[in-house]
Amino acid sequence: GFILCAVSQLPTALAFVGFHAAPKRISTLYATSGSSDDGVIQPHIVILGGGFGGINSALTLPTLPWSDVAQGSGTTSVKPRITLIDKSERFVFLPLLYELCVDDASIDEVAPTFKSLLSGVGTKKISTLSGLPDLSDALQLLSGESNDDDETKEGNCEVSFLQAQVEGIDANNNQVVINRSSGIETLNYDALIIATGAEVSCDAVPGASQFALPFYTVDQCFELKRRLSLIDNYLEEVRASSELEQSTNVAVVGGGYSGVELALNLVDRLGSNDVQVTLVHRGKQVLEYATEHNRNAGMERLKSAGVNVMTSTSVAEVSSWDDGAHNDNMSETLRKQLCTVKLTATNESIEDEGEPETTQLATTLLLWTAGSTPTSIRNAGIRNSVLPRDAMGRILTSPTLNVANYPNVFAIGDCSRPKKVPYPGTAQVAMQMATVASWNIYATLSKKYSSREQDSLKLLPFSYLNLGEMMTLGTNDATISTLGGIELSGPAASWLRRLVYAVRMPTPGQGLFAAVDGSSRKLARGALRNARRKSKPVDWK
Ligand SMILES: Cc1cc2nc3c(=O)[nH]c(=O)nc-3n(C[C@H](O)[C@H](O)[C@H](O)COP(=O)(O)OP(=O)(O)OC[C@H]3O[C@@H](n4cnc5c(N)ncnc54)[C@H](O)[C@@H]3O)c2cc1C
Repeated sequence: GFILCAVSQLPTALAFVGFHAAPKRISTLYATSGSSDDGVIQPHIVILGGGFGGINSALTLPTLPWSDVAQGSGTTSVKPRITLIDKSERFVFLPLLYELCVDDASIDEVAPTFKSLLSGVGTKKISTLSGLPDLSDALQLLSGESNDDDETKEGNCEVSFLQAQVEGIDANNNQVVINRSSGIETLNYDALIIATGAEVSCDAVPGASQFALPFYTVDQCFELKRRLSLIDNYLEEVRASSELEQSTNVAVVGGGYSGVELALNLVDRLGSNDVQVTLVHRGKQVLEYATEHNRNAGMERLKSAGVNVMTSTSVAEVSSWDDGAHNDNMSETLRKQLCTVKLTATNESIEDEGEPETTQLATTLLLWTAGSTPTSIRNAGIRNSVLPRDAMGRILTSPTLNVANYPNVFAIGDCSRPKKVPYPGTAQVAMQMATVASWNIYATLSKKYSSREQDSLKLLPFSYLNLGEMMTLGTNDATISTLGGIELSGPAASWLRRLVYAVRMPTPGQGLFAAVDGSSRKLARGALRNARRKSKPVDWK
């Protein structure tokens, strides 16, 4: 049985590792452009990846006026079926990953399930359009009840979620190949949005992938939480036995937004008495692409938090450092992660032509935030599709986010590149692209099924509106620069950042839940801080 199964899947595997022949159909879900009994046209729109670009596309598409397509002298209903595919069952609001790591946010706030976000979408009027919070959804979340009622009501579109790993895209045959727990399947589409995002890659540095923990996914965040509690235990034991001779080193590689935000949250989480956090950055200054206000606020905070900032420095190699010294109190897991980071001065910092200066940093925890690549380049299936890509693996598109030669395929977010100078890899860009790609799919499909030329069905070019940027600088500090010149730092900015993120949640229901859950956690933490400040030291004698 196993051999038969393996043989039957070989053509699919070959097709997506370089031979672009059509795969043998293992099992095919959905025919394209189905029509229901009452003559309604049902094009199938598939969205790959449910991050900021994907989920916002899935929520925007049903809000478009699908039923108004002209046919002959009247109109015909078009009710698309939309399938969102992601390998995970949860959407992740990545900017709040730091809060999840230091217990300032719950998993349901940062990573709601797709099922909860898409519940009722397409079958009822979407409250996103009205701008009003969907109270019933939020109350359900707050009370911990889930909506398992899959009853389909009359509506605009059918939206469903499929948990599966996307293995490949066969754009010539309008098919994607997915891997579900039940096996490999092909899925036909009439229109496709690719939004598979990016991931951190440290493969280029020898030894780094063995020791460094990237910080990009919920799983990596939980792994970091686990290692932090192992460090807590270790420090507790060595403090109790007065064996602590030197501080424990934690190194964060990458001095961009993520690196700085992570380093500062780690200082708050671990304390700076026995732990030294080092930030390694290859550029001349950290936060090179941030606004001046945010960069200055970030650099000041790094200084006051005691973070050791090493600029113009790159990691040359990472190797094991388990010399047996001060390891008796250390757990096996932590000991395996001990590493020596070989650091070299980057060329910019060397004035003479001599050998670059090299230093060694022995670390207990090495975190990697530098160098993200599109997820697709590391996934053999997606990489070997026929779609045009740049050297980084990003899918090249026209300004309308459309992939050349494939008018029904669109790429958005971190995995796409619509112009020569790439847009920044941010949630803002992905969300704005989702709106444009959704409209362009609506226009493309409506034109396809309409018998009349309609001027209103023009494809829109993407143009990015930078609304500003926000950064966490620790559990009670943040910095904000907005469009229009508003600049704010400190605890007020920290509160505002959480509230703005609540508003930016994919659905108003989730937004309300995030606002209540996030605020209550912040209030509780603030009360604890005040209590600590006010309480006098106890004289135990
Ligand atoms: C820690 C952190 C903090 C950040 N903070 C900010 C911030 O403050 N502001 C900001 O604007 N941006 C921030 N960003 C960047 C921002 O989150 C990304 O630019 C944004 O998520 C890109 O959206 P996307 O839709 O392209 O990809 P993503 O949101 O990454 O979504 C990609 C989705 O595709 C899925 N996927 C990938 N490959 C496959 C596959 N083969 N099969 C099935 N599913 C797949 C993934 O599971 C994921 O759900 C941050 C990023 C990180 C990591």
